[in-house]
Amino acid sequence: MDYLLRDLRRTHYSKDVNPDISGEEVIIMGWVHEIRDLGGIIFVIIRDRDGLVQITAPSKKVDAEILEELRALRKESVVAIKGTVQEAGKAPNGVEIIPIKTTILNPAKQPLPMDPTEKVKAEIDTRLNSRFLDLRKANVSSIFKIKANMFKAVRQYFDEQGMIEINTPKLVASATEGGTELFPITYFEKEAFLGQSPQLYKQMMMGAGFDKVFEIGQIFRAEEHDTLRHLNEAVSIDCEISFADDVDVMNVLDGMITRVLQSTKENCAKELETLEYDLSAIPEGPFPEVKYDDAVDIINSKGIDMEWGEDLSREAEKALGDTQEGFYFLTDWPSAIKPFYAMPYEDRPEISHAFDLMYKNLEISSGSIRVHQYDLLVKQMIERDLNPDGFGSYLKAFEYGMAPHAGWGVGADRLAMVLTGVENIRETVLFPRDRHRLTP
Ligand code: ATP
Ligand code: MG
Repeated sequence: MDYLLRDLRRTHYSKDVNPDISGEEVIIMGWVHEIRDLGGIIFVIIRDRDGLVQITAPSKKVDAEILEELRALRKESVVAIKGTVQEAGKAPNGVEIIPIKTTILNPAKQPLPMDPTEKVKAEIDTRLNSRFLDLRKANVSSIFKIKANMFKAVRQYFDEQGMIEINTPKLVASATEGGTELFPITYFEKEAFLGQSPQLYKQMMMGAGFDKVFEIGQIFRAEEHDTLRHLNEAVSIDCEISFADDVDVMNVLDGMITRVLQSTKENCAKELETLEYDLSAIPEGPFPEVKYDDAVDIINSKGIDMEWGEDLSREAEKALGDTQEGFYFLTDWPSAIKPFYAMPYEDRPEISHAFDLMYKNLEISSGSIRVHQYDLLVKQMIERDLNPDGFGSYLKAFEYGMAPHAGWGVGADRLAMVLTGVENIRETVLFPRDRHRLTP
C-alpha cells in the first residue's frame, strides 16, 4: 500500500487497452469492480471512468507475492496495476492484463453502504444518500456525460449565433415575478433572496446594448411541490435577443434543441446504449406549433375539462402531450397567466406573444416577446398586484433606450431528462435539492 502516487501515473484508460497494444506494459488506475478467485487463477476487474478492464493472474505465470496482493483486494478500493497486455477473446475489449505490480492507493471500508456493481436497482433515496458510489455505475455516469455534452453543444451553438455569455447575480433584492416562491436569506443587515431566474438582468442587458446574450446558471425556487420534474435548485439555459420577436427566438430555440439532439446521437452513442435509450425516435426540428386556443379544444375533446384562460393542469398537459410525437411549441397564451414582462398582442391584448416548448407532457421552456415600453411594463405590474417601487433598478433600464427584445429559458435538467430517457429529474442532477433533501 502506498498512499502517494510518487512517479506512478496511469498510462492508459480501460477503453484504450485493446489487442493493438498486446505485449505492451501498461499502468491502469481505478476501482476494484469484481474479484474472482478460482484457486489456480485470479480474475480482477478494474473499473475506471471509461469502462472495465480485466486483470488475469494464473498462478503458474504470476509471482506468489502478487497473487497474495490480489487476494487481499477489497471491492471499490482504489488501485494502480502495472501489467502486460494480452489478447483474450472473452474479456472486456478483447484483452486482459497479466499483472506485474499492484499498488493499493486507498482501501475501501467494508461493507459498502451501497454496491455500485449490484444488478438490482436500489431505491433513489438510498442511491442519493451514497451518491458518490451511485455515480460509479456506468448507467448513472452516462447521464452526466450526456449532460456535459449537452452544455458543450449548447455553447457551440450559441457561439455560432454570435451570442455573448453572461453571468448575473444569484443574490437578489427582489422577486423576479413576485409571488412567494423565493428563498429568503440574510444579507448583512438586509433581507435578500436567492434568484429564481436571471430574467430581469438578462433584459437589462438588452438596454446595455449586448444584443444577444445567454447564461447557464442556477435558479432557486422555494416551491413545496414534490414531483418528478421539479427541484428547488435547477440549472437554467437562458437566452435574450434584441431586435427580435417571438418567432425569431423560437427559431433559435428550435435550432438549439435540434443541435443538442444531433450532438448527443453523434457523441454519446455508447452512453445511450448503456442507458438502452433510443434517442433517434425523437423527431428533430422544426417543431410543430399548437396555439393555446386550439389546445383548449384538443384537451376538452380528450375528456379533460378546461376553461379558456386557465393554465394547463397536469392532466391537461398529459392529454395534449399524448397527441404530440415529441417537442412542440404551445403559443399565444392568455396574458393573465403569463408574467408582467410578456408582450400582449396589439389587436387582441387578452393573449400574449408568449410560448412554451413542451416535450410531450413536460414543459422544457417558457419564452416571449418582452414588453420594452416603460408605461406598459408598469401597468402590467400593477395589474398583477406587483409594486413597481420594488423594481426600481430594473425599470430604470427601460427609460433610457431599451431595445425591443425577446427570449426564453430552458430547464437544463429537464432537457437532460429527454436526452437520457429518465423519468425523475433527480436522476439528472448530481446532488439534487428537493423539499426533503439538502445533503449530500
Ligand atoms: P412548471 O410550470 O413546470 O412548474 P414554470 O412555468 O414555473 O414550470 P418557468 O418559470 O417558465 O417554469 O421556468 C422556465 C423553465 O425552467 C421551465 O420551463 C422548466 O424547464 C425550468 N424549471 C422551472 N422550474 C423548475 C423547477 N422547480 N425544477 C426544475 N426545472 C424548472
Ligand atoms: Mg413556464
